[in-house]
Amino acid sequence: MSITLVTGGSGLIGSAIKRLGLPNMVFLSRKDGDLTDFNQTVKLFKKHRPAKVIHLAAQVGGIGGNMIHSGEYFRNNIMININVLEAARLTGVKKLISFMSTCVFPDKCPYPLNEKDLHNGPPHPSNFGYAYAKRMLEVQSSAYNSEWGCNYIIAIPTNIYGPNDNFNFTDGHVVPSLIHKCYLAKKNNTDLVVWGSGKPLRELVLTDDIAKLALWMLDNYKESAPIIFTSGIETSIRDLVLVIAKKMGFTGKIVFDGSKPDGQFRKPSDGTKLKKYLPDFKFTPVDGGIEQTVNWFVENYPKVRK
Ligand code: GDP
Repeated sequence: MSITLVTGGSGLIGSAIKRLGLPNMVFLSRKDGDLTDFNQTVKLFKKHRPAKVIHLAAQVGGIGGNMIHSGEYFRNNIMININVLEAARLTGVKKLISFMSTCVFPDKCPYPLNEKDLHNGPPHPSNFGYAYAKRMLEVQSSAYNSEWGCNYIIAIPTNIYGPNDNFNFTDGHVVPSLIHKCYLAKKNNTDLVVWGSGKPLRELVLTDDIAKLALWMLDNYKESAPIIFTSGIETSIRDLVLVIAKKMGFTGKIVFDGSKPDGQFRKPSDGTKLKKYLPDFKFTPVDGGIEQTVNWFVENYPKVRK
């Protein structure tokens, strides 16, 4: 029986993988150990002896969290990644997939974002600490593959969302923040305040789709170069808010707060490689994905992560 270990197993993508209900998978969470600590990390790997690893553990936030905590996000993510990949090497892991995000790509980059451009310029200033730390995952993986013949590869999804997200509206990403804000605005009969102009565009992908792609990748993807997971469909923040408001039955006023940051205007990404491998893969449309996430939030409130 060979084990697949999932770090960050209780997070957004980890819980989506868990919902698939596959055997022989071990899901680690913070409760099991601190991955910024090398000895604890090695101990966990020695305990479970995984053949494969899906490495999701990271300190992650939306534009707010990234701007406030750039030092903390840099440090903790570098430490986690250094420890996890090294522990995997020391314990003979056969294959390891790490996750980053298209937000770590260069700010000034030809569109659509392509896997080969990952390191070709500095990231957007709003998330440089997180982005540089995450980019080092690709560097560490390539270096380990080259020197020690490891099989460490990188998946790069676009803006993910779904059940069990972090619904905190200071640190969280746009979808969970707006769902939480909308819920409270409806309950308290107040305006729904959206950050920025509403004009930026994001490629939103439901985590259940990413979970399926991660498992496909683990068994089928043989290249050493990263692969972007994207639906290729951009949604404006304004349209996203309207979908959330509709699904939550919010009929109050929506206000765009121009004093808050817009971040990158858009970051369309190149899905050619994914399409080459999986031409028939169907991403969940935003309308349906938001409905699932809203329903999950309402059913689980107030016990959601926030
Ligand atoms: P990003 O894609 O890495 O920039 O991360 P986010 O998921 O935080 O998305 C940020 C975009 O959503 C920016 O254009 C924000 O102006 C916009 N936005 C609107 N309202 C919110 C909010 O309540 N929280 C967050 N995080 N972003 C918001």
